[in-house]
Amino acid sequence: MCLFCKIVNREIPSNHVQENEDFFAFHDINPKAPVHVLVIPKIHYNSFNDISGDLMGKMGTFMQEVAKTVGVDQSGYRIISNIGENGGQEVKHLHFHLLGGAKLKWGHFSDADPKDFF
Ligand code: 5GP
Ligand code: ZN
Repeated sequence: MCLFCKIVNREIPSNHVQENEDFFAFHDINPKAPVHVLVIPKIHYNSFNDISGDLMGKMGTFMQEVAKTVGVDQSGYRIISNIGENGGQEVKHLHFHLLGGAKLKWGHFSDADPKDFF
């Protein structure tokens, strides 16, 4: 069973934010912003590649609720999912990072020069 499945099953403790029948939200152990919540489906999917449009729609609604719960819905926030090798995904259980609580920077995403690809 993967790390995040164990968190859903409460075999590993987490700083829980909110849950419903399908999804679970908890604070990231290594926050990159004042608010850094991870949102995951309770059923294991390896990545965003594997989720249905129907479940993704429900997950979007749940993330809107989580943003309200943690108080960033009006101030603004960012949701990110890292997918696979180039996406930098470390935990192979689909998750969205919900980041906020301060003005976020727009990152330096790659050392590759985008101009080389046009
Ligand atoms: P990824 O790089 O796969 O998109 O993100 C994985 C995230 O999971 C990282 O931000 C990391 O800090 C977080 N993380 C890894 N292990 C744990 C854990 O045991 N508990 C919590 N709450 N977060 C974790
Ligand atoms: Zn899992």
